[in-house]
Amino acid sequence: MIEILSASGLVRARASGALVASILRTLRERTTVGTNLLDIDRWAQDLIAAAGAQSCYVDYAPPFGRGPFGRYVCTSVNDAVLHGLPVDYALADGDLLSLDLAVSLDGVVADSAISFLVGSARPAESVALIEATERALSAGIAAAGPGARIGDIAFAIGSVLHGAGYPVSTEFGGHGLGSSMHQDPHVPNTGRPGRGFRLRPGLLLALEPWVMADTATLVTDPDGWTLRSATGCRTAHSEHTIAITDHGADVLTAWRDSPAAPAR
Ligand code: MG
Repeated sequence: MIEILSASGLVRARASGALVASILRTLRERTTVGTNLLDIDRWAQDLIAAAGAQSCYVDYAPPFGRGPFGRYVCTSVNDAVLHGLPVDYALADGDLLSLDLAVSLDGVVADSAISFLVGSARPAESVALIEATERALSAGIAAAGPGARIGDIAFAIGSVLHGAGYPVSTEFGGHGLGSSMHQDPHVPNTGRPGRGFRLRPGLLLALEPWVMADTATLVTDPDGWTLRSATGCRTAHSEHTIAITDHGADVLTAWRDSPAAPAR
């Protein structure tokens, strides 16, 4: 299903996007060396409830997972890249943490992910990974707009990731969203320009480049959710929800600054 939002739907989408961005910023600001992934999940639960929103994850039970997710935010550490199930783990200095959050507010879903380094250590390879996914996300957004095609976004994202020397997996990618979290069209992280669904105003898309340093192969944890690089290499993931408008693409989940920025 491809959903096209009305003007009032877009107003609600902007509020939903602003909430997701605000929660991710708060989670990032509170996270320090020693923070437990279960604390981050509890903070997410409380912030979602305080806003009167609903988690898209807690009851989420897709065919590829193992029963309902049961948590409120995905916490993927170092070699974990997608769908990281929060577990009893205290973060260490220099850990690379990816948070992925989707909530429904007033009937519209927004979805966003950030990667950042915990504490003060800034391992160069990890910074490069994060920056590559952010640059790829920006390129994808720049390629979106009325009349552009999904393949234009996919090509723009893939060009940055390939150009940075990383392998690109097409196993998981971006997606349409609206009244539910995952809708058509699928937005692969590499592709051919000029192909695929033509974008039009009112369409919401989640673009989400993710990358693993030296492999395109994922392995799944025994928890049935957490996806890691097969080689144990580090990974990163950046995601925004965008709205196609008459004039271009608006980022609804904009973070104020780069998650790769040095610690303040
Ligand atoms: Mg997401």
